Amino acid sequence: MQAFDFDLFVIGAGSGGVRLARMSAAKGARVAVAEDRYLGGTCVNVGCVPKKLFVYASHIREDLEDGEGFGWQHSGSLNFDWASLVNNKNTEIQRLNGIYKKLLESSGATIINGRARIIDQHTVEVNGQSYRSAKIAIATGSWPFIPDFEGNEHAITSNEFFFLETLPKRAVVLGGGYIAVEMAGIMAGLGVDTTLVYRGEQLLRGFDQELRLFVKDEIEKKGVNLLFEDNISAITRIDNDQLNVKLESGGTIEAGMVLAATGRKPHTQDLGLENIDIDYDRSGNIKVNEHYETAQKGVYALGDLIGGMQLTPVALAEGMYLAQHLFGDTPPQTVDYENIATAVFCQPNIGTVGLTEEQASERFSKLRVYTSSFKPMKHTMTGRNERSFMKLVVDDASDRVVGAHMVGPEAGEIIQGIAIAIKAGATKAHFDQTIGIHPTAAEEFVTMREVRD
Ligand code: FAD
Repeated sequence: MQAFDFDLFVIGAGSGGVRLARMSAAKGARVAVAEDRYLGGTCVNVGCVPKKLFVYASHIREDLEDGEGFGWQHSGSLNFDWASLVNNKNTEIQRLNGIYKKLLESSGATIINGRARIIDQHTVEVNGQSYRSAKIAIATGSWPFIPDFEGNEHAITSNEFFFLETLPKRAVVLGGGYIAVEMAGIMAGLGVDTTLVYRGEQLLRGFDQELRLFVKDEIEKKGVNLLFEDNISAITRIDNDQLNVKLESGGTIEAGMVLAATGRKPHTQDLGLENIDIDYDRSGNIKVNEHYETAQKGVYALGDLIGGMQLTPVALAEGMYLAQHLFGDTPPQTVDYENIATAVFCQPNIGTVGLTEEQASERFSKLRVYTSSFKPMKHTMTGRNERSFMKLVVDDASDRVVGAHMVGPEAGEIIQGIAIAIKAGATKAHFDQTIGIHPTAAEEFVTMREVRD
């Protein structure tokens, strides 16, 4: 018998790594988890959490303006202090870091602060010290990627945005995915003159086409300038505060900041993966089998760096599965990647679950599609020109609702409930038999009767 320091060595204390480490330790395994930056990983420190806090901040100006329609008056000018927002956010995140530390320690896992490097299938080195472990799990997440163009070193990513010392007056966001539209929405809401530049012809590739068109109009109404089928060709620094952004179309924009939200790559650099057997897919994601085991026996990988839907709840589910698979008494429930609901916190929000109309039409011979677009009740009093959109995609043969999509306030909160129904196999008849909650926007989902032409 070989002597190991640990039963499991987890590299990376983000969403997936923390869940795996503490669930495994709670099952009696001797677990170490190495982290070189921040406990809680991307989600807690530079992802979901600070993003959502900033989304709240950016919506408050509208809320105050909307108050006037309900009789509220605010005298004097409204001032926003970016430094207070960043400081308060940092304080909250430090609190969360502390909670993650406590959760790990109380489960019995050993936290090792530092960058981990794999030496061989049983050995990990951190800060010059080697640890031997029966099994190793790689949960190092993903890292923002900035495309190659002249002056790209002047562009920042979401990682830096959350810690900016000052908010620019004008900004360019490069990209058309969910992080790009969320960041553009945050900045526009905080009063930054924001231009989003995207090489594609429409935002949010992979989302339902009709929803993409709808949300584009809403984002424009919020004041974000959208430039499609264009790209940045060069950035030059004018002075400390100003950049000159050259576009492929020939135009230029002077801005205080360029934020590249141009995708993320698996965070696998300098991990020592060349010392073991690892297979990669074409995008550089680590390939794993159904138990999240890599080509190297006893070495596992999970979360963002295996590709798929790069979301915190997905990484958590994979961590739970692996802990149960490695150390549980009974076989784990397989992670079901079908019908994973997700939200985009652009403004207004998007919530979506299941198939887009385009995907459903490839899978089923006949569809029924129900849509509704309306002014939210609140805005009948505020006068704000904002609309909501809802859509159900139904397989005609089985009557099953195979996709639900929404743009509107709290879309994520609403779609989370719909996702349970869809997971349970709800039919359109079930939706129709459900009595709505009045007056809500959500009741629209159970009153849609008109099939769209
Ligand atoms: P991570 O959480 O990234 O954790 C990886 C950890 O490994 C990091 O802490 C890193 O420091 C550490 N690490 C890396 N290399 C080493 C090493 N060699 N040694 C030691 N430690 C190492 N998801 C949602 O579900 N909802 C959202 O609203 C959402 N918003 C997002 C917004 C933004 C701006 C971003 C960037 C992401 C967002 N995500 C969101 C995605 C979510 O954050 C990720 O899917 C999730 O964090 C992935 O978890 P993970 O465990 O794979 O990796």
